[in-house]
Amino acid sequence: MAFGVYIHFPYCLSKCPYCDFASRAEKVIPQRRYTEAVLRELETRASEFAGREAVSIYIGGGTPSLWDPPLFAQVVREVRSLWRVRDDAEITLEANPGTTDEERFAAFREAGANRISIGVQSFAPAQLISLGRKHSPGDAVHAFETARRAGFRNTSLDLIHGVERQTRQLAARDAASAVALGPEHISCYALTLTGLAEEVPMAKAWQRGEIELPDDESAAEMGESVRAELVKGGYARYEISNYARKGFESVHNTLYWRGGEYAAAGCGACGFRRGRRYANDRSPERYMERVEQTGKGEASFEEITSEQHLRERLFTGLRLAQGVDLDSLSTDLDIPVRSRFVNEIAQIVRDGLGELEGSVLRLNDRGLDLHSEVSLRFF
Ligand code: SF4
Repeated sequence: MAFGVYIHFPYCLSKCPYCDFASRAEKVIPQRRYTEAVLRELETRASEFAGREAVSIYIGGGTPSLWDPPLFAQVVREVRSLWRVRDDAEITLEANPGTTDEERFAAFREAGANRISIGVQSFAPAQLISLGRKHSPGDAVHAFETARRAGFRNTSLDLIHGVERQTRQLAARDAASAVALGPEHISCYALTLTGLAEEVPMAKAWQRGEIELPDDESAAEMGESVRAELVKGGYARYEISNYARKGFESVHNTLYWRGGEYAAAGCGACGFRRGRRYANDRSPERYMERVEQTGKGEASFEEITSEQHLRERLFTGLRLAQGVDLDSLSTDLDIPVRSRFVNEIAQIVRDGLGELEGSVLRLNDRGLDLHSEVSLRFF
């Protein structure tokens, strides 16, 4: 089973009003104390995930490009000393425009990062203002070019659509601008304000009617325009919201969608070992205290039964355009998947949402757009 390591760095230059991640804007980041906590937790987690070989390391946030490069290098070295890491492992660093200079990027590259994921969100000044982003479109282009000069040959850009006053044409223009830069990978998410923590300011403003977002139909049309632009540019939709040139699909995220295992360290990080999932404290301060006292930042955990795991594997696996091999899943979990869900599978095919080819069930574009509704049929 594939295995990867996730490390969370929670600090940002400012807090975006739509953000529900474990992230915080701090004037002075406690770089050393936070790094010490992550190193200590990695050491604790190594015994829980003993003998694994990592196919990927993902450093997400927050804005991990704010991490002091020598401390970042120490963390990557620690992962390598605790686990075997494949020679061709994908090592991703998330970065935000405005936190990038050539020297830092070169140092991250030197420390072993070989993939960079840049939070562009939009190339339109009005949309960036609506999102409360502090960077300009020029900063995003600069970040991308800096990454290239620093030697990153695997770069991903994040875009958001469905933003206040955004039109279908503007969403398509954002996608075209991303394509024009020529990254290897592009992620495109619809802005979501439902189900977020109460204190997220944009969600509150939306509930009070202070901002108006495009309705579901308009947001779906924007998604279609974005998809058309990306496909025209040579990117394949390999997951609901992710597009890549051949061979540049995200190894780490695919591991999540395929039900792999991942050790996680850092505030708000979630780890998974077959049968058990844990979630770390989302407050950086409490996270560091927990690690200092117990060696890990765990705030909660959940036992995952095979039945639960089966449904999760169907839910996440059907996000992928390649779909799920139901016979492999049956063998892996010792559960007869096809006979268990014979009616649900037949109904998906009858509804024109996907196909069953041999033992592989995969959704088509329409099925992927309706993924939540479709996969809930298995629950
Ligand atoms: S930069 Fe990203 S993680 Fe940080 S506050 Fe904004 S959306 Fe959240």
